[in-house]
Amino acid sequence: MTNDHKEGQVGRPGSMDVSGSRIFQHPSAVTGYFRIRRDIVYSVLIVFFLVLPWVKINGQQAVLFNLPERQFSLFGLHLWAHDTPLVFFILAFLVMGLAFVTSIWGRVWCGWACPQTVFIDGVFRRIEAWVEGNHLARRKLDSQPLNGEKIKKRTIKWVLFFIVSFFISHSFVAYFVGAEAVIEYIQGSPKDHWATFLFVMALTALILFDFGWFREQFCIVMCPYGRFQSVLMDQGSLAVLYDEERGEPRGKKNRDSSTGDCIDCGICVRACPTGIDIRNGVQMECIACTACIDACDEVMEKVKKPKGLIRYSSELELNQKSKSRPKSFGRIFVYLTLLTASIVGFAYNLTERHDLDVQFIRSIETPFSVVESDKGESEVINHFKIHLQNQTYELLVADLELTSMVRGDVVKPEFPVQINPGSKAKSQFFVRFDPKVLGKNGGAKVPILLKYKKKGQVETVVKEIQLIGPLQQ
Ligand code: SF4
Ligand code: SF4
Repeated sequence: MTNDHKEGQVGRPGSMDVSGSRIFQHPSAVTGYFRIRRDIVYSVLIVFFLVLPWVKINGQQAVLFNLPERQFSLFGLHLWAHDTPLVFFILAFLVMGLAFVTSIWGRVWCGWACPQTVFIDGVFRRIEAWVEGNHLARRKLDSQPLNGEKIKKRTIKWVLFFIVSFFISHSFVAYFVGAEAVIEYIQGSPKDHWATFLFVMALTALILFDFGWFREQFCIVMCPYGRFQSVLMDQGSLAVLYDEERGEPRGKKNRDSSTGDCIDCGICVRACPTGIDIRNGVQMECIACTACIDACDEVMEKVKKPKGLIRYSSELELNQKSKSRPKSFGRIFVYLTLLTASIVGFAYNLTERHDLDVQFIRSIETPFSVVESDKGESEVINHFKIHLQNQTYELLVADLELTSMVRGDVVKPEFPVQINPGSKAKSQFFVRFDPKVLGKNGGAKVPILLKYKKKGQVETVVKEIQLIGPLQQ
């Protein structure tokens, strides 16, 4: 079935008929202010998605979520599975960012940036229109019995859909296994990489099913964000709304000063990709794509009425007839505070994070021992264990030194220590020092230098260790 007669339909999704069967949507193409801007945004996002796996920063893939090796790259920041606090703050930022954006600008994500909308509207519907014609031709083709023309058009369309889905799935996989690995897999035989091959084919089939056929049903029945948005939004949030006050009573015929601006042409409904009539009020199925705004603005221009009968607005603004959009500051403030907290938490953890994470642990067996030096003087020995964590993607070789200010020496038979990328290493060392270093309480904090080579450059980390020995007079 097609969406010919759904205007004014209330109580069930516009993409469903009275028997509960799906009405396949063939929205009409629109032109206008928002369409132009959406095309630009969609093009940028599609290019961004496809090109990003090929971009390298400092020799590493700019964005990589290498799950098998638990290695993640985010625009030059290298994270490992043990970087849980940073990952937590990144996720918190994304969730709070989405909540904040939704509380102010409503479902702007759905209409402008969600891959579901971007690829369906920006790629799949364009292919469909190119092969099968405009919305009227497509509806006609739908209702036609299977004949030569229908088989030919449908075959061309689904072959093109398959090629695009195949391409998208490879780009998607490149984010997880690395772009170079994808090239290697393509050049090799599937039997060398069965798991990846099957995953890519399953993903291609899923994209083909979703973007090619399931489409708006995903937003309506499956997307969790679509349901959450009613919690995140309130009457002050931006939404695509119909100005009922101005539009009603609607009517095609017998128009006079008592009729509203809506001429009941149904063009807004025919342009809607989810098949709803926005004149029935705010609906969960509305993805705020703005197609109905452009469609109605074109009509208003023709009937010489002001544009904006359907527009971006808020329920509060429409009800109060206020030009500025009143906002619910309480909710926005809470989201903004949590968003700021996630940014601060991330920044703090990032500054605390070093290429080489070092922990000194005092050996518990013998806190200290006193020995006699070759010159017959007393010396104190402390035994330490050291835990090293390499946070970089390259091999690091670490060595230890006491600063020249300390009268003593480091005995380190296991140094220099090699630490593989993302790995941990454990070692131990002894500090042999003059007891005069110690204070009256028998303790002293002294700096110790940890040196390692990174890209040929020697880097130094200064840490403090607590030396202990006999009480001093
Ligand atoms: S009602 Fe308008 S904004 Fe909402 S999905 Fe339909 S066309 Fe897009
Ligand atoms: S496009 Fe505008 S005038 Fe036409 S039915 Fe929709 S709201 Fe009314």
